[in-house]
Amino acid sequence: MVIVSESSNGENKQEDYITDYIQSLERRVKELDVDKKNFEAKYLKLDRELAGLRAEFERIKSPPMIAATIMDVLDDGRAVVRSSAGPNFVVAVSQFIKPSDLKPSTRVALNQRTYSIMEILPSKKDPLVLGMEIEEVPDVSYDEIGGLQDQIRELRETVELPLLKPELFKKVGIDPPKGVMLYGASGTGKTLLARAVAHETKATFIRAIASELVQKYIGEGARMVREMFELAREKAPSIVFIDELDAVGARRLEMSTSGDREVYRTLMQLLAEIDGFDPMEDVRIIGATNRPDTLDPALLRPGRFDRLIFFPLPEEDARLAIFRIHTKSMNLEKKVELSTLVSLTQKATGADIKSICTEAGMFAIREGRDVVEHADFEKAVSKVMPTNKLMEVSEFTSKPEKMYGY
Ligand code: ATP
Repeated sequence: MVIVSESSNGENKQEDYITDYIQSLERRVKELDVDKKNFEAKYLKLDRELAGLRAEFERIKSPPMIAATIMDVLDDGRAVVRSSAGPNFVVAVSQFIKPSDLKPSTRVALNQRTYSIMEILPSKKDPLVLGMEIEEVPDVSYDEIGGLQDQIRELRETVELPLLKPELFKKVGIDPPKGVMLYGASGTGKTLLARAVAHETKATFIRAIASELVQKYIGEGARMVREMFELAREKAPSIVFIDELDAVGARRLEMSTSGDREVYRTLMQLLAEIDGFDPMEDVRIIGATNRPDTLDPALLRPGRFDRLIFFPLPEEDARLAIFRIHTKSMNLEKKVELSTLVSLTQKATGADIKSICTEAGMFAIREGRDVVEHADFEKAVSKVMPTNKLMEVSEFTSKPEKMYGY
C-alpha cells in the first residue's frame, strides 16, 4: 500500500515538473516571439535607412548638372537653352519631363555630358539665391538716426506717407513719387534711413546691391530685377532698396563688351519695372548711390527716381547725436567728453563714428576693463580717422554741381 502511494506520489511530482517545464517553454516561446517581432521591426528600419543611404550615395556619385534657362522650345521637342555662364545650345529633353513644363524662361538642369534637360528647377523666389537681403520689418527706428532731420522729413513725405495714407494723394489728385534716390558718401546713413522708413511703415525691406545683380549672376541680371519686383509685390507693403545703383545705371558711353550689354539689359529691365507699376501700389523704390553724376539721365526722369535726397557728412550737432546713439548702451567712465570727440571727428561719417565707439570698447576689453575711458575713444579716433581722411571720403560730400536730368 505504502509502495503504491509512494509510486503515485512520484508520478505526480513528475507530472508537476513536466507541466512547469511546458509552461516555462511556452513563456520562452512568447518571449522569443516578442524578440522576433522587435528584430523584424529593427530590420525594416535598418533596411529603410540602407535604402536611403544607397540613394544618397547614388546622388553623391552622380555628376553635377548644369543650370540653364530655356530660351525657346522647338517644334521637334528639343529646346534652346542658355547655360548660366555660356552660349546658347539646342538640346534634347529627357522623356521623363512633361512637354507642357517646358516654357521660355523656366530654369532647368542639364546633363553635364549630353546637355539634355534632366530636371525642371523650382522657380522659387528665394532671396538668398537671388543675392538679396530681405528683412520682414527692420528693427531700426528714427530715434536711432543722428542728424539727417531734413532727409528723414523728405523720405517720410515721399515714401512713408503714400504707404500709410494713400487716400491723401487720391483726394488731392496727385500721384506720389515712385522712386527716391539717396546720394552721398558711403556710411552717411542711406541704408539706415531706408530701413527706418520700412520699420515705421511695417513694410518688408528688400535690399539688392546692383553691382552684385550684374556680376554675381552673369546673364541673369534682368531676370533678377524682374523677380525682385515680383517678390516685392508678394510681400507688399514693401520697400525695394537698390544700393550702388550706379553699377547698372551709369551713363552709357559705348557698349563694346558683352558685360556692358548685360548691364544695359539689367538697366532696361529695371526701367521697365519702374514704369510698369502703379504709383498707388504699396511697393516703394529707393535707390542709393555715391556717384550720382555718372547716372544715366533715363533713371532720373519724372516717374522714375525723380526725387533726389542728398546725404551730407554730419555737422557738429549731428555727430554729437550719433555719438550719443552709439554710446547709449556702453559702460562709459564719467570723464568721457563726447563734445571733445565731436571736434576731433570733423570729416567722419556716421559709420566712422560707429566704428570709433566699437574700437574704443575693444581697447577697454583688451586692457581687461569693463569701463570705457576717454583715452580709449581718443585712440579709437586716431585708428579710425587717418590724417588723410579728407582724401578718402568719397567725392560726394557736397552736392554735385551738375546732375543729369535733375
Ligand atoms: P553705403 O553707401 O556704403 O551703403 P550708407 O550711406 O548706406 O553707406 P549705412 O549703411 O546707412 O551707410 O551706415 C552704416 C552704419 O553707420 C549704420 O548701420 C549706422 O550704424 C551708422 N550710421 C551712419 N549714419 C548714421 C547716423 N546718421 N546716425 C546713426 N548711425 C549712423
